Amino acid sequence: MNQTTKHPLIGTLIRDGMTVFYAFIQGKYTEGTEQELEKALKPKKKHSGFTRGSGRYLCGHCGRSTRDDGNGDSVNVGLCSQCYEVAGIENQISDGNYKDEDEKAKFEAEIEALNNIVRARGGKP
Ligand SMILES: [Zn+2]
Repeated sequence: MNQTTKHPLIGTLIRDGMTVFYAFIQGKYTEGTEQELEKALKPKKKHSGFTRGSGRYLCGHCGRSTRDDGNGDSVNVGLCSQCYEVAGIENQISDGNYKDEDEKAKFEAEIEALNNIVRARGGKP
């Protein structure tokens, strides 16, 4: 079950014995092949709100104007670093990558804490 995918934001589930790939693209649950999802997670230059040189762009999930903080992939998927982390943790939970309910609760608390940061800064998680 704990099959690893190349992209940190792509999760997998098993349906009718088949592996189904999914990701939250611009905050929307999307299914497709791994290749399709990777392609969809790449930045769309025209609509991302990314301004060359300034390092600022709009988060596709909470809508905040955010900047490239050097946190790697968060820019490529058009998310602020909080939403990026939330998406990663949500994937951990839905992939069952936790050892017990305590650890799951910790993950959920982490998501809530990150969403609170987003809210405090004017975003809509
Ligand atoms: Zn965000």
